[in-house]
Amino acid sequence: MNWQKSSLKKLTTFKIGGKIDHFVEPRDESELRDALLFAKCKRKKVFVIGAGSNILAPDRGLSGVIIRLKAADFSKISVKGNVIECGSGVYLNRFLSAAKNSGLTGAEFLVGIPGMIGGALIMNAGGWGKGIGGLVKDIRIMDYNGRVKIIKKSIAGFSYRNSKLNRYIILGARFILKKGKKSAISATIKKYLDYRRKSQDNSLPNVGCIFKNPAQGSAGMFIDACGLKGKRCAGAVVSERHANFILNARGAKAKDVLKLIDLVSHKVKEEFGIKLEPEIRIWK
Ligand SMILES: Cc1cc2nc3c(=O)[nH]c(=O)nc-3n(C[C@H](O)[C@H](O)[C@H](O)COP(=O)(O)OP(=O)(O)OC[C@H]3O[C@@H](n4cnc5c(N)ncnc54)[C@H](O)[C@@H]3O)c2cc1C
Repeated sequence: MNWQKSSLKKLTTFKIGGKIDHFVEPRDESELRDALLFAKCKRKKVFVIGAGSNILAPDRGLSGVIIRLKAADFSKISVKGNVIECGSGVYLNRFLSAAKNSGLTGAEFLVGIPGMIGGALIMNAGGWGKGIGGLVKDIRIMDYNGRVKIIKKSIAGFSYRNSKLNRYIILGARFILKKGKKSAISATIKKYLDYRRKSQDNSLPNVGCIFKNPAQGSAGMFIDACGLKGKRCAGAVVSERHANFILNARGAKAKDVLKLIDLVSHKVKEEFGIKLEPEIRIWK
């Protein structure tokens, strides 16, 4: 197995985070099991990473084992009728292309989300009131003792930007879509993508929305109403275009982002009595 030293800065879209000594991309399930055994023997914590598009990683790095399931064996995709089966390392845009090319509708809301299937299932990624969990038939997982099983959607516990899959390593999943017209699928994708391009801010490294939307409305709207657009903590800044985005403007550190998250949460609580909850995963 090819163990590498790496840095969390390289592995996350925020481009933040320190060094790691044990990074590995297993070639198959047997190598994944070996990596888990290594971590167990060395008493190291295991972190699984996908595209790193929803993680704030610590500046000091991590001494644990970081696993990314991106090798060919975890990136297979196949379509049979209206069922799409894919590995956890498949990027959402590839999943969506496969659906569109097979005339399958229902996944269009995923367009532009820069994650992989594994991370998207953990987060129940989505938009416009929908989450990827709604498309799931079943999920292939490995537990941290190396046992593989298939679990049904009903026990995955999908909820708004969350699931109960955290205790597993996602190997892949099967999704059920509906037959649709390719032209209508393309038009819906275009509509969602246009909206995303207009509203989001990809000018600098980020992890998408920092906070979940509270029941009272959009988190961005409350942050904006507090006058926090453009607010800075060293290299981290609240986007001028989308108040729920924090950008890594100038070599931001995790501690700068955390300070800004704290400041924004306090201000929104003070002004509106609303407790914002982070959507992103903060690794420690
Ligand atoms: C510009 C931008 C726009 C975004 N827009 C949206 C949006 O519209 N909607 C939305 O929901 N999200 C959005 N996101 C956030 C993010 O893209 C999604 O949450 C995405 O699904 C995360 O997938 P990932 O592969 O990057 O996961 P990662 O960020 O790598 O990981 C997320 C979590 O999943 C775990 N994980 C990852 N892979 C596995 C696996 N195989 N097994 C077990 N655990 C795993 C990690 O440990 C971590 O806890 C956006 C992000 C960016 C940067």
